[in-house]
Amino acid sequence: MSAGAAAGPLLRVEDLVVEYATSKGAVRAVDGVSFTIDAPGEALGVIGESGSGKSSLANAIIRVLPRNARIAGGRVSLAGRDITALPDDVFRREVRWKGIAMVFQGAMHALNPVIRVGDQATERLRQDGVSRRDADARLTGLLERVGLPRGTGERYPHELSGGMKQRVMIAMALTHDPPLLILDEPTSALDVSIQAQIMNLLKELKRERGIAMLFITHDLALASDLCDRIAVVYAGQVRELGAAEAVLADARDPYTERLMASIPRLRGDAPPGFLAGAPPDLRTPPTGCRFAARCPVVFERCVEPPPLVEVSPGHVARCWRSPAGSAAAPGSAAAPGSAAAPRRTRADRAW
Ligand code: ATP
Ligand code: MG
Repeated sequence: MSAGAAAGPLLRVEDLVVEYATSKGAVRAVDGVSFTIDAPGEALGVIGESGSGKSSLANAIIRVLPRNARIAGGRVSLAGRDITALPDDVFRREVRWKGIAMVFQGAMHALNPVIRVGDQATERLRQDGVSRRDADARLTGLLERVGLPRGTGERYPHELSGGMKQRVMIAMALTHDPPLLILDEPTSALDVSIQAQIMNLLKELKRERGIAMLFITHDLALASDLCDRIAVVYAGQVRELGAAEAVLADARDPYTERLMASIPRLRGDAPPGFLAGAPPDLRTPPTGCRFAARCPVVFERCVEPPPLVEVSPGHVARCWRSPAGSAAAPGSAAAPGSAAAPRRTRADRAW
């Protein structure tokens, strides 16, 4: 039995709420998000359009929120240990980097231009009291692991390509051998061939090193390439979550369907279906379904907030047209107003 199985899921996020204080009111960027990453080597993809709360979710898990943000509710557990209530110094010492490491959105652009990348990569180890010689030896191993030549540590950021810099960021996240890696849009600034190389590296780390991943992207195709399960988020909430094949082949939420329809195809005549409109203002989100204003299959009941319901084992969706256990896809479900009462998920249940 894996260590993850013995202590419960590797990561459990329960009903997490993140708010930003602004001069125009509180922005609830994450509103009651729950999920688990069950075991080593498992990857959960979090997908959603810009502003849906993906980075806020990740930053809250690893506790690097800006000063105007607060975790307003919920709990995060790592291998059975509640890490929400840990004092900051304990969190820094025992959890961040050692338990959960992160490649931050856009971080490769924040490498210090006047310091050799090797010195930047080993800084955290040196702060932990590791000798320069040991830190350098560790760096050599890490550079090799992420597919960079040995001498890379001697170079300055401007001497590296975007793909190489992103590999350095991944190496930096691996310095403390974390069981779980959060990757926030790790390939969005890279061209497609470099993107593919980074994706292959992540697959290797997942498969051969058993590193679990929370992979954040706005790209459904990328998430499906790497991830075992996919969570689709919209306006701070999970819309749909399940095994990647289930979400892709049997999407139960109109938002997921629209995301899939917007992927351009190389063959076929059908043009990509662009999603018109914009997500709601998170200071004053709609009281009913948050996607209703843009939803092609909206009906009367959508003025009420739809709960997240189990539509098949391990697959949940938040749509009044997806009654629990129904085989009908959104849009082909029962007539408006006649949707069967969905089975509500237990409030404390993490998917
Ligand atoms: P992207 O795909 O563009 O990276 P995202 O899904 O990561 O978007 P977040 O960056 O988490 O989205 O933002 C979620 C919401 O929180 C947005 O409405 C955003 O404007 C708001 N937000 C983020 N940071 C702050 C902040 N420091 N102060 C106030 N509001 C913020
Ligand atoms: Mg983001």
